[in-house]
Amino acid sequence: MDNAGRTVVIGGGISGVACARALADAGRPVRLVDRGRRLGGRMGGRTLHGRVVDLGASYLTAGDDSPFAPVVADWVERGLARPWTDTFAVAGPGGIERTTSGPMRYGTAGGLRSLVVDLATGLDVELGRTVREVTPGPRVDGEAAAAVVLAMPDPQADRLLSATDAPDAGWQPTLAVALGWPQRSWPADLHGVFVHDSPVLGWVADDGDRRGDGAPVLVAHSTPALAAAHLDDPDAAVPAVVDAVRTLLGIDAPPEWTHAHRWSFAKPDEPRSEPFGLVDGVGRCGDGWSAPSKVESAWRSGDALGRALAG
Ligand SMILES: Cc1cc2nc3c(=O)[nH]c(=O)nc-3n(C[C@H](O)[C@H](O)[C@H](O)COP(=O)(O)OP(=O)(O)OC[C@H]3O[C@@H](n4cnc5c(N)ncnc54)[C@H](O)[C@@H]3O)c2cc1C
Repeated sequence: MDNAGRTVVIGGGISGVACARALADAGRPVRLVDRGRRLGGRMGGRTLHGRVVDLGASYLTAGDDSPFAPVVADWVERGLARPWTDTFAVAGPGGIERTTSGPMRYGTAGGLRSLVVDLATGLDVELGRTVREVTPGPRVDGEAAAAVVLAMPDPQADRLLSATDAPDAGWQPTLAVALGWPQRSWPADLHGVFVHDSPVLGWVADDGDRRGDGAPVLVAHSTPALAAAHLDDPDAAVPAVVDAVRTLLGIDAPPEWTHAHRWSFAKPDEPRSEPFGLVDGVGRCGDGWSAPSKVESAWRSGDALGRALAG
């Protein structure tokens, strides 16, 4: 089948996969395309020194009454996701000050991307394809489609719709830096640290703890300001991040290895409260919708748009 009879979902993060899943489950023909070599988007990670390290989202949550809750429960039942913790440390300029409790955060043994891959089981997926233009019709790179979905951050969607360099305003960047040591030398019950009032760090996660293998690996997320200053050369920010992490956690030895990853559009300044956009057969979804911005919102946005298109 060519695209004329089917919906083309552009973006293989959790929102695009949720949208395609809802369409396919309703019996609608749908193709999912992503420019990457793998699905996952900002739930991505990388194999570093023999194991997967989560470099994007740190964990996921699901509200009790959320339609996402049964999806997460199914992942837990099948051993793909695992309850991680409901408690993190909070640090200020003087170091770690207290702990804070909230909803259960879920991690994965195989990396968060594995959940997106699982959700895409049986879908028609085309990887390694960068879409250049979505035009009225709707058309995807000139080819007619029944409907088109842009499941990605707004600056990326705006570029596809106008085929020009739209401004990047409204979304914040983050650098993720993975740090590996020969052995663990931080508290076993640390889980993760929200860092306030630091020019360098916003968050540090214990990757071995959340993944369940106890590996001596931390992942630090920078402040938007540090990321903005190093988008062209993320590696140049690593020494400042290493210093800040070692000072925060009192780690004497430098890490054995580091790896930096740039997220140019990590999160929206102000996600919309509407669940999705849909005008003239062109839908938009993702964590720029269904505020607040997080994995659960992105899934809800994509699922709601898929159901609306199917209906
Ligand atoms: C550093 C960081 C930490 C985070 N921490 C958390 C957390 O702890 N908990 C939480 O719930 N959320 C967290 N989030 C947010 C969460 O990751 C996102 O809300 C969610 O993954 C967004 O999914 P999405 O499908 O909307 O977009 P994305 O995952 O960004 O997917 C968009 C996809 O579109 C593709 N694409 C873009 N342009 C094109 C094109 N032209 N052609 C083809 N494909 C294209 C991209 O390759 C990408 O795969 C974090 C995000 C970041 C970056």
